[in-house]
Amino acid sequence: MWSDPRTRARLGRLVPPVGRRVDAVSDCLFCRMVAGEIPADVVHQTDRVLAFRDINPQAPTHVLVIPKEHHATAAALVAVDPGLLGELVAGAQTVALQEGLVTDGGTEPGYRLVTNTGPQAGQSVHHVHFHLLGGRNLGWPPG
Ligand code: AMP
Ligand code: ZN
Repeated sequence: MWSDPRTRARLGRLVPPVGRRVDAVSDCLFCRMVAGEIPADVVHQTDRVLAFRDINPQAPTHVLVIPKEHHATAAALVAVDPGLLGELVAGAQTVALQEGLVTDGGTEPGYRLVTNTGPQAGQSVHHVHFHLLGGRNLGWPPG
C-alpha cells in the first residue's frame, strides 16, 4: 500500500521511502501509528524514529520513542541494528531538550528513559519503545 501515490500523499511524512524494507506488523498498535492509521501526538521524528506523547501519561512529560520499523524488544533491535537503538536514545535526548528536561550539555532537572521487556516488567505493546519521563521527582526503586 505504501507504493500507492494516493496513500503516500494522505500519510505524508510518516511514510517511509518506497523500496525501503519495512517490517510493519499489521496488528501492531505502534506500526499502525507509524503508518498513520491511528493518530499520534508526535513531538519529534526522523526518517527512522518516531516520538509521541503517551496516551496515559505518568508524569508531566511522558513521551514514547520508537523505531519506525517493527522490533519486539530492545534486545531484538540491538541484535540486528545497534545503530537504530542509538538513534532512539538520541531522539529521547532531543525531546528532553525540547521539553526543558535538560539543557544543552547539562543534565538538569533530568529525565528517566526506560524500556519494559516481558510480562513481569509490564510490557503491553510488543514494539520496542522507550518511555521518556520527566517534569516531576521520580521515585526509585520504581514500582
Ligand atoms: P508498555 O506497557 O511499557 O508496553 O508501554 C505501552 C505504553 O503505550 C503505555 O504507557 C500506554 O499508555 C501507551 N499507549 C497505548 N496506546 C497508546 C496510544 N494510542 N497512543 C499513545 N500511547 C499509547
Ligand atoms: Zn510494530
